Amino acid sequence: MSEFTKPQNLQEWNENFEQIKPLMGATMAHQESARCLFCYDPPCQKACPTSIDIPLFIRQIYTDNLAGSARTIYESNYFGNICGKVCPTEVLCEGACVYNHQNQPPIQIGRLQSYATSHAIAKNIQFFTAGKDTGKKVAIVGAGPAGIGAACELRRLGIAVDIFEAKAQPSGLALHGVAPYKIENESVLEEIAYWQHQLGFDIIYNTPITTKADFEKLEQNYDAIFLAIGLGKTKNLGIAGLNAKHCYGATEFIENLKLNPFQTHVGKRIVVVGGGNTAMDAASECARMGATQVYLVYRKSKAEMGAYEFEYELAKSVGVKGIFGYSPKAIEQDENGAVKSITFTITNDTYQDYVIDCDMVILATGQEKQTSIYTQINALEFDQSGRLIVDENFQTTHAKYFAAGDAVNGGAEVVNAVGEAKKAAQAIYKKLMP
Ligand code: SF4
Repeated sequence: MSEFTKPQNLQEWNENFEQIKPLMGATMAHQESARCLFCYDPPCQKACPTSIDIPLFIRQIYTDNLAGSARTIYESNYFGNICGKVCPTEVLCEGACVYNHQNQPPIQIGRLQSYATSHAIAKNIQFFTAGKDTGKKVAIVGAGPAGIGAACELRRLGIAVDIFEAKAQPSGLALHGVAPYKIENESVLEEIAYWQHQLGFDIIYNTPITTKADFEKLEQNYDAIFLAIGLGKTKNLGIAGLNAKHCYGATEFIENLKLNPFQTHVGKRIVVVGGGNTAMDAASECARMGATQVYLVYRKSKAEMGAYEFEYELAKSVGVKGIFGYSPKAIEQDENGAVKSITFTITNDTYQDYVIDCDMVILATGQEKQTSIYTQINALEFDQSGRLIVDENFQTTHAKYFAAGDAVNGGAEVVNAVGEAKKAAQAIYKKLMP
C-alpha cells in the first residue's frame, strides 16, 4: 500500500519527507507576488491571527524590497518564517484570498512569507533592538511559540526576560510536534536563534518549573511570570492493553520521530486512533516511514472529524486509509507483550466488535492539560476543560501570573500562540509600567 520504503539515511529521509511548501526561488516569488491584487480591506489579512499586512509584504517582494517585506511580517509575527510553513494557510489567509472566488488558485501567501523572512534570517538583518531598560524582569515558563513570542516583545519594550524550558531545545510544538514534511528542524531553530541574538534573552534549558517551591522562587525574583507551558502528554484513553509494547501516544511518537528519526520504532501494520490533525500527521509519518498498512480509525463520521480536509487528503495521498464509526475497545498483545491487534466497537446500531490485526497502535486522542502544574500556584484558576482562566489582559487569577497559548486556548495553531503572546507581553508591560 505504501509507496515508501523505510529511510536508512538522511538523503532517503529527506526524499520521504520532502517539504510540502518548499522555499521559493526568486523568479517564482516575483511571478507569484505579481498576481496579488493588493485588495482594499484585504480578506487575507483579516483571516491571519497575527494580522500581518499581507498585501504590503507581497508588494514589497514584487518591488525587490525583501528586507522591507520581512520587516512588515515580523512587525506582526516573530514566527514569520515558521508560520509561513506550518500555518494551515488553506483555511486562513490563502483560504480567504479573493482568487478563490474566481476559480483560480489563491496567492501562495505562506511560501512568499517564508521566502522574505528566510532572506532576513540568512543575511542576519537586524530589524529591532532591545528597548531602554525599564529595570523590570519577567520569567517565562516554556520556550514554545508563546514563550518566545512574548520574550521578543518584552525585550523590545525594555523588560529583561529569562525563559525556563523543560526540554533541551526551544520551540515547543514547532520543533517537537510539527510534521517533518512541513518544516525542517533547522529552519525552526534558525528563527529562534535569530531573535535570541537580536533581542537578547536567556533560555535556561532542562529546567522544568513544576513545584510550588519552583514557582515561589520565580515570584521572589521576577516582577511577573508568563505561563507559556502548552499542553501535556497524550490523554489516557482508559481501554485495556495500553501498556502493550509498540502502543504509543501520538504526541510522544511524533516527537521521537522528529528528534531521533532513525532510532524510533515504526511498525509495518499500524492503526492510528483519532480524527484530529495530530492523527493525520502521525498516520502520514508512519506511511512515509515505510509502513505497509496504515489505518486511521475515528469513532465518529468523517464529517465530524476535527482535522482539516486538506490534512486528511494529504494523509490519503501517501496511502493512509480512513475508517469511520469505530470506537476503540481494547488492545490485544502477543506472547511477548507487543501489540497484536486492536478491537473496536462499531458505533452504529449493531455495536459489534471488529478486530484489526496490527503491530503498532498510535493513540491521537488529544493531549492532557497541565493542571497538576497549575495547582502548585496559589489562587490560579482553570475551567472545567483545564484551560487557564485569564482576563482581557491575559492576567490569570493570581495577579503576578499571565498566560497565553495552548494553556489558555486549549490547543490551537502555532500562529495563535505567537499572536496571543505578543498581546499578552504588551499587557504585562502596561501592568508593570503604569
Ligand atoms: Fe492579494 Fe489575495 Fe490578499 Fe487580495 S486577498 S491582497 S489577492 S493575497
